[in-house]
Amino acid sequence: MHIAVVIHDRCQFKKCNYECKTYCPPVRMGTETVIITESGYPRIVEELCEGCGICVHKCPFEAVKIIGLPEELNEDLVHQYGENGFRLYRLPRVQRDKVVGILGPNGIGKSTAIKILSGAIVPNLGDYNSEPSWDKVIKFFAGTEMADYFAKLRDGELSTVMKPQYVDKIPMVFKGSVRELLKKADTQGRLDEVAAMLELQNTLNRDIARISGGELQSVAIAAALLKDGDVYFFDEPSSYLDIYQRLNVAKVIRDLASKKLVFVVEHDLAIMDFIADVIHIMYGSDGAYGIVANVRNTRNAINSYLEGYLRDENIRFRDWKIEFVVHPPKRKSELPVLISWDYIEKRYDNFVLEVEPGEIRTGEVIGVVGPNATGKTTFVKVLAGVVKPERGGVDEEIKVSYKPQYIKSDYDGTVEELLNFTLKERMLNNFYRAEVLHPLRIKYLYNKEVKNLSGGEMQRLAIALSLGLEADLYLLDEPSAYLDSNERMVAAKVIRRYMENLGKSAMIVDHDVYFIDIIADSIMVFSGEPAKHGIGSGPYPMREGMNRFLKNVSITFRRDGDTNRPRINKPGSYNDREQRSRGEYYYA
Ligand code: ADP
Ligand code: ADP
Ligand code: MG
Repeated sequence: MHIAVVIHDRCQFKKCNYECKTYCPPVRMGTETVIITESGYPRIVEELCEGCGICVHKCPFEAVKIIGLPEELNEDLVHQYGENGFRLYRLPRVQRDKVVGILGPNGIGKSTAIKILSGAIVPNLGDYNSEPSWDKVIKFFAGTEMADYFAKLRDGELSTVMKPQYVDKIPMVFKGSVRELLKKADTQGRLDEVAAMLELQNTLNRDIARISGGELQSVAIAAALLKDGDVYFFDEPSSYLDIYQRLNVAKVIRDLASKKLVFVVEHDLAIMDFIADVIHIMYGSDGAYGIVANVRNTRNAINSYLEGYLRDENIRFRDWKIEFVVHPPKRKSELPVLISWDYIEKRYDNFVLEVEPGEIRTGEVIGVVGPNATGKTTFVKVLAGVVKPERGGVDEEIKVSYKPQYIKSDYDGTVEELLNFTLKERMLNNFYRAEVLHPLRIKYLYNKEVKNLSGGEMQRLAIALSLGLEADLYLLDEPSAYLDSNERMVAAKVIRRYMENLGKSAMIVDHDVYFIDIIADSIMVFSGEPAKHGIGSGPYPMREGMNRFLKNVSITFRRDGDTNRPRINKPGSYNDREQRSRGEYYYA
């Protein structure tokens, strides 16, 4: 069986000569395999398509995918968004007393699967021309626990609660204070209890429009917990939270699973490892189809994910392994110093930041870690010259390219226009094209309107733009937000190679430990009392920095026996106590 997909996001029928049709061998023989519809998009008639794939190579925008799939999958088609549209095969299983994780790249159908399980989409089982119905779905799943589940959903016996992915959008749809928003969700008088669980007590009276991304995330999670449902879905609960908050949220969600059904989509693998009991990996081809793999225990699932190979299914979905080093890398002390600073102090009305003296070397990538609201962004802005400190500062005049934490763009035009407008002849630079644009897969975004990009697409563009500008120091504030796990690893490699090859320096603020591990040569640590007093120190070599950071937040990591990947220890477990006593929080 092969499927034909026309990705409308990429298809630019006004700018091409319908190569998909002109070069199609059956069309040339007089068979109407490709039809130009009224909308202008081509329609590929799958029954007539021979699967030769010539259209795939001829389409100038890579908008066509013809994919051979095993015959038996046909019976597992759960939903299809129209002819030549995205197809979802199989569904995650509902499991009691377990947090069910869903792990997979962007565009593979995770949200579609969740929307089906939450009842927001009635799946059409591939019959996109007829009205879908729960009765058909229940018949389709007859004899499985899913039939039971959907019958209850149909009969209103199950209520579902969703923590949406994009918390940045909350202020656009809700005006008022945090307390007012939470009150709406609070049917059981648990507002204060839940606010305390998420450490929101001091945020309750603040205006939703004026709180940080991390606070918005906590508010969204609190609102979900306050609702009285039977099934809970958390779509990326960790974005914008610091590692301490991520673990706290993980614990809260785990507790919920003892009473309710819980599904989680998460791209921070260390957190996914901690939060989920079992995981469904999703694989396929983004925009074309997605398959929900069999459920695996969490450790196996994440190891398989890093390896890029699903043993049971005999599917390789990545041609390289994501690997971790057991021993800390040496700091590149032979490299020349780019900038140095003496003691720095920056004061706002309610906040003081102190940064101990430090220096940045040419060609080095520095990870910047620490709790939210301890001044990481403020320090980055001091280096960028955007914020003037009360004391100290940087002597050397350097050029800085800065990617802010929250990326928004009002740019009215396509990605390609924005890139050409901002970067000009840089767009022709071979190194930039091969080492930045290509791995970040920017060309697939070229024809999209900037304002229609998804969170992950916007992040890829923002990284590409900031690396495209000429600078000595690149400051990237939370580049992993909204990227999937794979894109994070790719972005980490891109940034590293760029700095190494061009002899530039980078500071990367991020909360994803795997991302920091892969990207950083050395590490700066922020600590103190959030929103009151922040203290920055370093950069330190990786071992020392990780120990300082993880000691502050009281988290230890052990190593996985098969893959060496770091795994968060259960607080109070043997490994946790033993490593604490040795003062080795990360490199055991
Ligand atoms: P994920 O959550 O894994 O990023 P989604 O479930 O959001 O993936 O989307 C999977 C694919 O389905 C995407 O390629 C998207 O373009 C397509 N898709 C999502 N919603 C619709 C829709 N309403 N109509 C047509 N295609 C859609
Ligand atoms: P981080 O990046 O570590 O999360 P930030 O540097 O963004 O921390 O913020 C540190 C503290 O400084 C926060 O409490 C924040 O509210 C406060 N702050 C940041 N910018 C300003 C400003 N322009 N005016 C007043 N307070 C600010
Ligand atoms: Mg910040």
